[in-house]
Order: sequence, then C-alpha cells, then structure tokens
Amino acid sequence: MHQSSTQFLLQTPRISGEGEVMPRINDYKCNKCDLRLPRGWGYCLYVEDDNGKRVPCYHPVEGRFIKQVLGERASLEEVVRERAGFNSPCICLDCLHRFEADLGERGWSPYRLNLERDLPRRKKDKRQCPCCKSKNIKTELEMVGQPCPECEEGVIEEIWTGSVS
Ligand SMILES: [Zn+2]
Ligand SMILES: [Zn+2]
Repeated sequence: MHQSSTQFLLQTPRISGEGEVMPRINDYKCNKCDLRLPRGWGYCLYVEDDNGKRVPCYHPVEGRFIKQVLGERASLEEVVRERAGFNSPCICLDCLHRFEADLGERGWSPYRLNLERDLPRRKKDKRQCPCCKSKNIKTELEMVGQPCPECEEGVIEEIWTGSVS
C-alpha cells in the first residue's frame, strides 16, 4: 500500500525490515594521533524552525523532532521539503576549525526509501570555513582515507564501533 511522506513523518520511522537497515555507528579518527571527528555515520538530519535555526533531528525518532518543530501543518510535506536537510561534521584543513554544514552531501539515512527521496538536493551552505574563510574544507566522510591535518603523518580511518543505531 502506498504511504505518503506526510503520513510517514507523523509516525516513528521504521528503521529495520525489508530493504532498510539500521545505521552503523562509526568512529572517525586518525590512526597516528588523537584527532577524532564526531562518532556516527556522517550526517544528521535537521529541520529549520520559524527563525531559520537548524534543529537536529536525532535518530531513530526523527519524525517526532520534525513534528515538534513544525507542528501540525496542512502542508507538512512541503514545509519539510523546504526546511529539512543533512548537516555534516566538517573540518577546515587550514585552521582545523570544526563546524557543521549542509553541503548537499547525502548517503545512508533511515529515510533512504522514504523521506530522503523528497529532501532538497541543493546544498544550503558554502564550501568555506566560517572561521578563516578558507575553501579548503572537508566533511567527515570526505576525510576517510585522507592524511590527518593535525599530525600530517596518520590517515583518517572509519572504524565500525560494533553498534548500530
Ligand atoms: Zn593525526
Ligand atoms: Zn579555517
């Protein structure tokens, strides 16, 4: 039976079952020094409130967060399309500043078969460090396999913690 995205949002998302898997929780860290990037799977769904502030929607009850922020709206599906996105943890390779940005990077999400298909594909943020203005920045997932910007000897590795969420 067809289930619309709007209906889907109002329920606790189904996160396992046919065609869907639970996200693996990974550590992202240098194999030489103590540089660590946030644990997770490289993304966090967010939705903008009425003031444009990005509210993170934590897994596995993303739907509940979205509903809390947006309330009951007739055109919830449209509002979500406009206001939702994925923030990625980022690091500036020049000044090592850490920040979050929506660069339009997409990947595994509990909504792969549902909500994510309807999310905006455009990136909302510039590829630029908010601190030093360098354009030499990378997301957590782009850092995997890359030289460590801190010790310049190690490589950033993605290591499964053994847990799923
Ligand atoms: Zn390092
Ligand atoms: Zn910077």
